[in-house]
Amino acid sequence: MNFSHLPKVELHLHLDCSLSYDIVKELKPGTTYEAFRQSFIAPPKCIDLADYIKRAINGFELMQSREQLQLVTMDLFRQLKADNVVYAELRFAPLQHIMQGLTAHEVVSTVNDTVVKCIEETGIEASIILCTLRHYAESQSMQTAYLVKDFEGSKVTAFDIAADEAGFPIDSHIAAFQFVRENKIFCTAHAGEARGPQSVWETMENFRPTRIGHGIRSIEDGGLINFLRENDIHLEVCPTSNVQTNVVDRMDDHPAAKIFDQGISMSINTDARTISDVTLGSEYEVMKTIFNWKQSHFLRCNLEAMRHAFTTEDIRRKISHKILNGYIG
Ligand SMILES: [Zn+2]
Repeated sequence: MNFSHLPKVELHLHLDCSLSYDIVKELKPGTTYEAFRQSFIAPPKCIDLADYIKRAINGFELMQSREQLQLVTMDLFRQLKADNVVYAELRFAPLQHIMQGLTAHEVVSTVNDTVVKCIEETGIEASIILCTLRHYAESQSMQTAYLVKDFEGSKVTAFDIAADEAGFPIDSHIAAFQFVRENKIFCTAHAGEARGPQSVWETMENFRPTRIGHGIRSIEDGGLINFLRENDIHLEVCPTSNVQTNVVDRMDDHPAAKIFDQGISMSINTDARTISDVTLGSEYEVMKTIFNWKQSHFLRCNLEAMRHAFTTEDIRRKISHKILNGYIG
């Protein structure tokens, strides 16, 4: 069974970590394929998450002008089309893209306008999640949260916290998540990746997201698994990325299948198409080969992803139909 033709939903996807070789060559002429692989793609084993995300800087350095942001966004939609993705949520940290004079507002409006155009051209539905980063000061986190609010009614629908979970505490970001909650803005948060269940508990208590980016180490705490199930918290699982960042030793040890079997709402995602050198189709192949996953597993993951998608009820319904037609016919 080959899953490449199946319609897919992707909730956890970093725009600045997913530049194809073609677009890097266009933005930085003269880059050889070897040089691209060396600097943009992480090895199968990094020391930890901090080591893995060092590669992200190569991406956002090439995303500092309107044109660069447009080209990278269009490049990602081409990859999504080839992967038969029918709904995607693209995330990035706007404050990483103001090094050459764009304002954060201009950065977000450029990506939003390009996403709108790409949706029309490809038929892929999409939303945008704006990320604050763990090492940001409270003011930067607040600025990012305000941006989501400023773009209300656009494709920008949600807020996230990314970057080095183990290296920086949550304190500077509590106010931003409180603002987001008060304004009924969707939110997710990276947790339970570089740190264990305690980090997920702390995130649930202080940020109260409806989804968790990764969250796979929740499996170490039965009480937490019960909490996630009872509160219908969705885990955005990214298998290959977790092996690379050393959250799990080998893919055979990955708890994705156990989490699924515990009845937790979850989806399979790439995280970073370039840094991890994967497609969603190849991640499905991994789940099939290692955990003997069938089409029915992917159907449930995709429907659960749509149920927790940061979009309108209309789009949720439309995409869920598309998924059902693709898997069941
Ligand atoms: Zn991520």
